[in-house]
Amino acid sequence: MYIQSGELVIISRGDFHFSINSKFLKSLRFCIILLLLVVSTVPCAAAYRGIIKAYESRAVSLRTADIQNQCTILSNQLNSYNYLSDTSSEVINASLTQLTNIYNGRVMIVDKELRVIKDTYGLDEGKTIVSEDVIRCMKGSSTNYYDKANRYIEVTSPITTGETEEISGVMLASVSTDTIEDSLKILSTKGSAILGIVLILMLGISLFIADRIVKPLRRITESIADVSEGYDDEVLHVNTFTETKQLSDAFNKMLGRLKQLDQSREEFVSNVSHELRTPLTSMKVLADSLLAQDDVPIELYQEFMGDIAKEIDRENDIIADLLSLVKMDKTAKDLNIKSVNINELMELILKRLKPIAEKKNVEVVLESFRPVTAEIDEVKLTLAFSNLVENAIKYNQEEGWVHVSLNADHKYFYVKVADSGIGIPEQDQQHVFERFYRVDKSHSREMGGTGLGLAITRNAIIMHRGSIKVYSSEGEGTTFTVRIPLTYVA
Ligand code: ADP
Repeated sequence: MYIQSGELVIISRGDFHFSINSKFLKSLRFCIILLLLVVSTVPCAAAYRGIIKAYESRAVSLRTADIQNQCTILSNQLNSYNYLSDTSSEVINASLTQLTNIYNGRVMIVDKELRVIKDTYGLDEGKTIVSEDVIRCMKGSSTNYYDKANRYIEVTSPITTGETEEISGVMLASVSTDTIEDSLKILSTKGSAILGIVLILMLGISLFIADRIVKPLRRITESIADVSEGYDDEVLHVNTFTETKQLSDAFNKMLGRLKQLDQSREEFVSNVSHELRTPLTSMKVLADSLLAQDDVPIELYQEFMGDIAKEIDRENDIIADLLSLVKMDKTAKDLNIKSVNINELMELILKRLKPIAEKKNVEVVLESFRPVTAEIDEVKLTLAFSNLVENAIKYNQEEGWVHVSLNADHKYFYVKVADSGIGIPEQDQQHVFERFYRVDKSHSREMGGTGLGLAITRNAIIMHRGSIKVYSSEGEGTTFTVRIPLTYVA
């Protein structure tokens, strides 16, 4: 016989050889099958052994009691026939022979001197018997003993004589337990057969159950493999069990997030290419127009070269901002956290930006409500706050103002940057933190904006487990509020 089923190969030539590869041994299917088999058959096997043992001990004790009874009755008869002095009584001899035949055993009568006066086998008559049980019985207590290996039960019963009931001999009976053994054999054969049937049944049931449990998992694996090859609009629906439903829901969620990430990556790459190409295109146009003309006046050369230099600066700005953004995208473990005096930090930022503000005639005021020290990455937050204040100056009107305030409570510090600028239209407010998003592209370009400033700011704040909000009304001004924990929690 040769059966091959999946990973399990059973070859039978007289006896069985199992060749099971380790992949199957480690599989959930195998574990379930094994578990169910063990759980179902071990109690059955234990019950089977228990029943056999109980039957054996019950049968032996019944047989022992039975013989003990017979011996007691016979001992009384021996007494009345005075058998110890004269063993010729036919009635007694017949009773002894009957007892021997019924139980397939041997009976010996021993007198006070431990001499065998009657042996139903006729082998040991006249011999002296020195047995512990006989001596103990002579002192008055009946004994019994079950020899399982040699399959017999030995029983002693005292023989009393006279009115005083003095012990004057012992009746020693040993009977075979072959009939008990035979019954045990039949019982054990039947038990083994039932156990075998249970095992086969359970094997079938556990194969079925294991298959039912493993099937949804296999379907999930197949679907994941399909998805890995290229996720179009594939979603998992394996609702067989609550757990598999949860698994497929979690997977679908992850898939959605992957798609989102993929989409935003594509968008980002195309935005970056576009943004980097714009200054290059301008430079190309400027250079081409110079090359196309003969005898270009030096003034025009200077003007165009100045424009080209501006575009190069712009390209540089974009690249610098992109690098900052990439750095902010890294995990929080890249933060260089130190305890920093925020009041001094804000003063320094405003001092650096003062020249730009003066150029636009914008008044910049810092209002510190209390001394604040916090655990932050100084470089990253300086960049974040600088961007906010710089925007407040850039998108302001002539003679406008920028109010920066710093406050704190026991948990957070708060920075508010308010301006009297052009404001942000309501529909744009939720997008201003996106990369390359600009409300007015040409105006932003004029101001030297890259559209990355607020994205960098927001990333830096989020890395500090903080939050940023924007409030604005068009034509009136904009306020950015930032909240950052005083102590950094990784
Ligand atoms: P940019 O480099 O263009 O300034 P940002 O990411 O810093 O890019 O800002 C995104 C857009 O949000 C800007 O183009 C601008 O339109 C708008 N914006 C940001 N700050 C202000 C502000 N204080 N007032 C008005 N508009 C602002």
